[in-house]
Amino acid sequence: MGLTETETIDPDIAAIHCDDWPLRPLTKLIGTRENRFQVIFHQSVLDEIHIHGQSTTDIEICGVLIGTGYRDAQGPYLLIEHCIRGNGARTKATNVTFTAETWANIQTVMDRDFPDKKMVGWYHTHPGFGIFLSDMDVFICDNFFNLPWQMAFVYDPLGGDEGNFIWKSGKPQRDPYLIQDDVTPKSAEIPLISVADAVNSHNQLATDEKILELLIRVRRLETRQKQLVSAVVFLTAFVIMWIWFSPVPAPPVMKPATQPAMQPAMQAPIPKQIDHTQPVAAPTDWLKASLNNANRNRQ
Ligand SMILES: [Zn+2]
Repeated sequence: MGLTETETIDPDIAAIHCDDWPLRPLTKLIGTRENRFQVIFHQSVLDEIHIHGQSTTDIEICGVLIGTGYRDAQGPYLLIEHCIRGNGARTKATNVTFTAETWANIQTVMDRDFPDKKMVGWYHTHPGFGIFLSDMDVFICDNFFNLPWQMAFVYDPLGGDEGNFIWKSGKPQRDPYLIQDDVTPKSAEIPLISVADAVNSHNQLATDEKILELLIRVRRLETRQKQLVSAVVFLTAFVIMWIWFSPVPAPPVMKPATQPAMQPAMQAPIPKQIDHTQPVAAPTDWLKASLNNANRNRQ
């Protein structure tokens, strides 16, 4: 059964015929994929529902879910890829109703933004009163979302709980859902490369590391050489400066020799005592002449 066909009697996921659903393996999945039909939300859609629900917590708000039916090795799955807010819906504190205006607005957005997608279900909030489907909610499911693969989602923006409902035996029953992470930034994704590229890249890295190691060794040797030359130059300069400025050694100070005590033999000869009793020796000729000159000058 295709997405466009309708079924109004006792809808059940067992009645899903998915032979024409595109094959699409799942990636970045949060949760365990089982071998059966499951609902999978894009993380971005859950984020949008949370934002919408938390924007108004005194009354219920609603919207519709946009997606595609796919298949993988485990069977069919419904991927919820977008949502449209049910602006203009008539709401009460514990009830929500899609009006003609709401449907018109939703159809306008569908045609404009998602012409190739399907309306796969609906969501609404239960601010503060938990996850279940009221009689009015089941009425909406029965009348607007009654294909075996269509679903309903309820979010409590005050309690924080949320639940997914799918058709089982003609009644929407709560069923676990999975999440596909579609919000990881592109910059955080690891690019896929071939094994050959990986090996080449590894070899190139190894070669680069060896070259780098060699360069480091050469650099160390250069540094040591420079240090050695600097040391020699410094030592030479130091020696020259030391020789140049070192003071001339003063001659050894000659300490005055201690005068030895005079030896009796070196003592001056004691002058002879003049013996006045002896006649003075006759003056010599030069003495006589001198005396005569002195007498003449006196006269
Ligand atoms: Zn409700």
